Amino acid sequence: MLNIVLFGPPGAGKGTQSNKLVETFGLVHLSTGDIFRYNIKNQTELGKLAQSYIDKGNLVPDEVTINMLQAEVEKYPEAKGFIFDGFPRTTNQAIALDKFLEAKGTSISVMLALEVNEEELMKRLLLRGQESGRPDDTDENVIRNRIKVYNEQTAVAARYYEAQGKYHAINGIGSIDEIFNRLSSVIVEKSR
Ligand code: AMP
Repeated sequence: MLNIVLFGPPGAGKGTQSNKLVETFGLVHLSTGDIFRYNIKNQTELGKLAQSYIDKGNLVPDEVTINMLQAEVEKYPEAKGFIFDGFPRTTNQAIALDKFLEAKGTSISVMLALEVNEEELMKRLLLRGQESGRPDDTDENVIRNRIKVYNEQTAVAARYYEAQGKYHAINGIGSIDEIFNRLSSVIVEKSR
């Protein structure tokens, strides 16, 4: 199996690149943010719980997120592999994912970390807010908090993969195709 963690701050392009990677490599794309938004839209219990955290730009508690992600993986027993987008966002989530995959006889192949500076992130997120209407992209204070949460709680999770020799930094500035080519060349290398 080819299991990719697509990592990076909010606005780094994880969703855009995931869509292209899915087409090319035939993987299942799991975005915890998308799953939460789906649950919020449908007013499920999970959605109601997650909304208060998401509206402020804070992380949904690990236990809730981990259980949700595992249940989602179980829905695709035939998958050739997964792109985990927006998960893990804490070291605890990374540890839980490793244990879960190990029990299934598989593991993370690589972490691809998109690097984009803060000024560019703000620009992209505010633009996305105008286009997509995502409430957490329209309020500048919420965006700043999400970047702060990324720097304080999420960025450290990369070290976990670095220690395993699985971390690859990717320049996240450029055209969508340029960035896609950078990601693809690492994936092709890893799947040899
Ligand atoms: P995203 O679409 O990845 O930017 O996620 C939107 C929001 O969903 C985040 O700001 C968090 O509030 C929540 N979220 C998504 N993924 C996770 C995760 N792995 N752990 C905790 N909260 C998450």
